[in-house]
Amino acid sequence: MKCPSCNTASKNKAFKNIQKGGKRIEVQCPHCDQWLTIDPATMKFKFAGYALILIPSLLNFFIDDVHYRLILSVIALLGACLAVFGVVRTKLIPIEPSHDSK
Ligand SMILES: [Zn+2]
Repeated sequence: MKCPSCNTASKNKAFKNIQKGGKRIEVQCPHCDQWLTIDPATMKFKFAGYALILIPSLLNFFIDDVHYRLILSVIALLGACLAVFGVVRTKLIPIEPSHDSK
């Protein structure tokens, strides 16, 4: 993961301070102490992709028509592409820490 604040690439293990606040995960850059979170836009791509994989897979159980199954398979494939795109494009964005620093 690359820190957008100081442009230093760090291994995931290097992030020692991890805060799970509400829906998002916050990490602190070990180099510049900037708090970061995963870009929510790429998270949406991932979830949309997973949904597109999951829904046709489930529908396949109830549909006997070969043509519909083919269409569902294509949709699932597009979903897989979308999910991969979301994973590849995952990046960190700087944030203000939401937790109390006591
Ligand atoms: Zn940094």
